[in-house]
Amino acid sequence: MGCLNMSDISITPDKLRALATAICRASGSAEAEARIVSENLVDANLTGHDSHGVGMLPIYIDAVQRGVLKLGMTPKVVSETAATLVVDGQRGYGQTIMKAATDMLCDKAAKAGAAVLALRATHHIGRIGAWAEQAAARGFASFFAVDVAGVDAKVAPHGGREGRLGTNPICLGIPVKGGHPVIADMATSRIAVGKVRVAFNKGVQVDPGSLIDAAGNPTTDPGVMFAPDGPTGALLTMAAHKGYALSALAELFSGALGGGGTIASLPPETRRITNNAIAVAIDPAALGTADYIAGEAARLEAWLKSSPGDVLLPGEPERRSRAARAASIPMDAGNWTQLADLARSLGLDPDSYLKG
Ligand code: NAD
Repeated sequence: MGCLNMSDISITPDKLRALATAICRASGSAEAEARIVSENLVDANLTGHDSHGVGMLPIYIDAVQRGVLKLGMTPKVVSETAATLVVDGQRGYGQTIMKAATDMLCDKAAKAGAAVLALRATHHIGRIGAWAEQAAARGFASFFAVDVAGVDAKVAPHGGREGRLGTNPICLGIPVKGGHPVIADMATSRIAVGKVRVAFNKGVQVDPGSLIDAAGNPTTDPGVMFAPDGPTGALLTMAAHKGYALSALAELFSGALGGGGTIASLPPETRRITNNAIAVAIDPAALGTADYIAGEAARLEAWLKSSPGDVLLPGEPERRSRAARAASIPMDAGNWTQLADLARSLGLDPDSYLKG
């Protein structure tokens, strides 16, 4: 354990995985489920997205204990054709459902050239880039549009003062033979809700342009989203009207085209994070570009990086973070306290995971 300041901590990825797995096991998950969930959450921490890392566990385990997140679920195929797949997540862990569903999608794309997955009624599927990486590892380009229903609508529609949308992520990924996939994975809000939570826990302000208060005035205080009686402010969409337009379409793609329901028909009262999704996988071989992409991607990267300054490719910040955090993941005191309290409530000794 290395100290960042008086109370922040750092922990090895292995120990954090072990703690997260123990928490899932103690709350009733079988070993395989606990491992898949922990692996995905710690990977989010490794990529620098602490908002989608182990800090989600208090929310997940609360949902398990209230019976709104079901353990041991597998993707249930509702219907399928040669190139389409409708999957009911049965309220199970998004990490296990989406991992299996992404493989099923890729299996179809391998045969049909391209395939579409409609995912319904699944608990939080975490960092969407993980699924684009999984598809890219199998050689597929992919697209994901996701809505976030069943909880308070935290994102204001452009021009509105109250939240009506989730952070509705969109993700695009492309495999590069012999290189790293290029992955653009983002919330359509200016920042993810989890990042507001991380800022709130750290006691720091968020970037200007991210939040409005109850009166619709710009604010940098993350506290407006964590008032005891519910959020009094709202997140703004990224890129003003453009992010709003993408968010509304993510809602319609995942919730309407995908059939799982939009935020307008899935009420927040359950406090059950529901991710509906449309995912598309495309086999470059079917387009005759399986060997062409790598050269063109390299040319594009060189061209972009020839712009004076410091240019990165999408997905590069996550790779850099993975390298920087490979031996040790920093965690702010607020995040650690919540995780440690959860562990203790399940009869575990969190501090033992900081040793060695
Ligand atoms: P972000 O703003 O940190 O990054 C967005 C994208 O921009 C990434 O692909 C990143 O690689 C790229 N990027 C960042 N800096 C760059 C630079 N300088 N040059 C080039 N590319 C750069 O991400 P975010 O919007 O805060 O989203 C965080 C995570 O939250 C994502 O993984 C998203 O899937 C996840 N999320 C999940 C849900 C859910 O309900 N499951 C909801 C919202 C967000």
